[in-house]
Amino acid sequence: MKNKTILVLGGGLGGVVAATELRENLNDNHRIVMFDKQPQHLYAPSLLWLMVGKRKPQKVTRDLNRLQQKGIEFVNGEITNIDPDRKMVTVNETTYSGNYMIISLGAELTDSPSLKQTGHNFYTLEGAKSFWRALSQFEGGKVVVLVSAKPFKCPAAPYEAALLINDYLQQNDISAEVELYTPEADPMGVAGEEVSENVQNLVEHKGIKYFPEHQWSGISDKKTLRFDNGTETTPDLLAYVPEHRCPQVIRETNLVGESGWIALNDNEMMTTDYEGVYAIGDATGVTLPAGKSLPKAGVFAHKQAETVAHNIATDINEEGSLIKFSGEGQCFLETGSGKAGFASGNFYADPEPDVTMKNPGMWWHWAKIWFEKYWWFKYF
Ligand SMILES: Cc1cc2nc3c(=O)[nH]c(=O)nc-3n(C[C@H](O)[C@H](O)[C@H](O)COP(=O)(O)OP(=O)(O)OC[C@H]3O[C@@H](n4cnc5c(N)ncnc54)[C@H](O)[C@@H]3O)c2cc1C
Repeated sequence: MKNKTILVLGGGLGGVVAATELRENLNDNHRIVMFDKQPQHLYAPSLLWLMVGKRKPQKVTRDLNRLQQKGIEFVNGEITNIDPDRKMVTVNETTYSGNYMIISLGAELTDSPSLKQTGHNFYTLEGAKSFWRALSQFEGGKVVVLVSAKPFKCPAAPYEAALLINDYLQQNDISAEVELYTPEADPMGVAGEEVSENVQNLVEHKGIKYFPEHQWSGISDKKTLRFDNGTETTPDLLAYVPEHRCPQVIRETNLVGESGWIALNDNEMMTTDYEGVYAIGDATGVTLPAGKSLPKAGVFAHKQAETVAHNIATDINEEGSLIKFSGEGQCFLETGSGKAGFASGNFYADPEPDVTMKNPGMWWHWAKIWFEKYWWFKYF
């Protein structure tokens, strides 16, 4: 068995799981090299707690360099070129080649200058931090949560943000109203009608005003949000989800399909048209049997990473059998007051995803916190 090199593109959720699983299943003669433009890994689910003051910034990131102690080589730098044909990447003007390549570069967040001037992009660490600074000084008025474009990662996140903000305002006796605008027809629509109705009821029951099918179109006077259907609203505090795109360095390759995201030739094996090149997580575009897209969520990136790492190790070790990503996924939905709901099911089910949702309870909230602790314990 010759020594192999596996290039892991991205030290986000999918990349960290893939590299760790590979290291645990390959002997030290094989190299695992991970690349990320950020020196630190960000555990994005915790941003929702950070934006309402329930996490400190240093609790939601860790140095990716720590992975070197486990035998994972880490290169900090922007990937400026990907050559899937030759399984090569260019980083810091150096070219690295491997026998296998796992692409987990996530989604590129494109910040609109006008939104940036008016509100806080809570999908980033900086934006979640600045939102919390503003919320902690907020004396009342209108808070708007805006989904500026589809698709976006974690379909539950804007709903959780609105619920957590609403909870904070109530707990602190701040007189305010919370509005949520989104271009979606319904919340977490891909999970089916039952889940959607549950989430909408949860939000509206708390007094949050929900405006689906509202496509944001611009800002007037640096403060009033305009929508395609003529609606306008003027927030005193704005938290927004930015536009998502497939990262530019991937768009410059032939890996991108009609969806604008990486096309897979097998949605269960996460293989691309290039032998030995796999793609996982938010950068991929997976169309489900009923025509909707698999949501961009960490739970899928995680399971896809485990699948791909297992299959590469099986190939290299020449023992065991290949496994498939089943489309199973779970999602905790923070509702405030120390409670969360829990949706789970199979998104690959034919003809429709088969997903159910448990009512909010303290158990699911604690399970979400437990998973956050497990994440740092297992991977860093
Ligand atoms: C507020 C919020 C809450 C969320 N909550 C949940 C949740 O509760 N459950 C859930 O399942 N999902 C959740 N998600 C979604 C989840 O974080 C993502 O789906 C997941 O991180 C996707 O993993 P990934 O590996 O595909 O991409 P990412 O984790 O985004 O990692 C991509 C990595 O690639 C790096 N990168 C990109 N381009 C380059 C380049 N050119 N050169 C070098 N490095 C590059 C980036 O720096 C990044 O580290 C949430 C997301 C947000 C924003």
